[in-house]
Amino acid sequence: MQDDIRGEILKGLKRVVIKIGSSIITQFEKGQAGSENGLNANNVRRLAETIRRIIDRDCEVVLVSSGAIMAGRERLGLHRANLSIPEKQACAAIGQSYLMHTYEKKFEKQGLRVAQILLGHDDLENRKRFLNAKHTMEALLEHKVIPIINENDSVTIDEIKIGDNDTLAATVACLVNAQLLIILSDVDGLFSSDPSIKRKKGESPPEIIEHVDGITEEIEKLAGRSNSTITVGGMYTKVLAAKRTMSFGIPTLVVNGLDNSVPDKIFSGKSVGTLFWAGREKIANRKHWIAHTLKPSGKITVDSGASKAIVDRGKSLLPAGVIKVEGEFEFGNAVHILSEDGTEIARGLVNYNLRDLNQIKGMKTSAVRKIFGENFYEEVVHRDDLVVL
Ligand code: GLU
Repeated sequence: MQDDIRGEILKGLKRVVIKIGSSIITQFEKGQAGSENGLNANNVRRLAETIRRIIDRDCEVVLVSSGAIMAGRERLGLHRANLSIPEKQACAAIGQSYLMHTYEKKFEKQGLRVAQILLGHDDLENRKRFLNAKHTMEALLEHKVIPIINENDSVTIDEIKIGDNDTLAATVACLVNAQLLIILSDVDGLFSSDPSIKRKKGESPPEIIEHVDGITEEIEKLAGRSNSTITVGGMYTKVLAAKRTMSFGIPTLVVNGLDNSVPDKIFSGKSVGTLFWAGREKIANRKHWIAHTLKPSGKITVDSGASKAIVDRGKSLLPAGVIKVEGEFEFGNAVHILSEDGTEIARGLVNYNLRDLNQIKGMKTSAVRKIFGENFYEEVVHRDDLVVL
């Protein structure tokens, strides 16, 4: 049963977000060589090989990578526990460039190109910036470049931070409509009980829960129970990340990224780590959010050709199909999409504000390009941001 669910997820896998924990990037096993600027270059090389294989399966990859602060600490020799905020920010600044340098080098060997995107809390809260980030990532993926995302730690203070890259990765997975989020950590998954207690008693470690189909209070407690740094300590934010992706219809898989056999197991559908997934019926949840949670702030009336393209063929709405624009909306707001007789046929997130859309309504793409230059959105509402009612 478990393998069936995983097989099903793999079948539809066209885009995956992989979160790489600091431990994967900076931890060394005893006697392991390969340190470059405090980073575990061997692990980055192995990661590059894995990602090459995933891309060869015709699946796009977006990375969310931690490790900047740890790498910077190493570089500056700042090993004490309590660093001031400017010190941490300095570590992030210096570490981030070493991080990217290492990714560049190792990924290039696999014929992979990478690009850095640093996001802050504001970028995720503000829908306009959120969509802008999305469009940048789409453009990178279209050009076969792997976006590597981290929090913009060098300019954000703790109070206004996203804070952890599990949350960031979950948000990114929703942002790019991935079909799977894989979190590579240094634990095997979610334990069925606190391993530190078992260890103290000299008992063998508890089992890994293979499948979590809903984030209950009990699961949250299990994830947050231990204070130990080596057991389930870091699992709480992973469970919250899984909660977030699941409500958008995206499964999350938490696995041990230090175990070299894990990638093959994942991609052959074998049971490894903990899969957080409620089942296929949840897939439409993001669309549910667009259709039911957001308050539309304007109306766009479309001609019968556009109406058919949207309803019957699941197409995006282009400027050429727009005949009337009403209300007050900005880029990124939700809008009603109406057919000529005034019936609401769809809702979606709009790529233009009212003024600009009024200017380009009814126009062909080439005419729109003349007005806005190359820097414009072909779609008024992209089909990924559109839900037919
Ligand atoms: N953004 C931090 C860094 O790159 C890591 C945060 C986290 O691991 O959750 O160092």
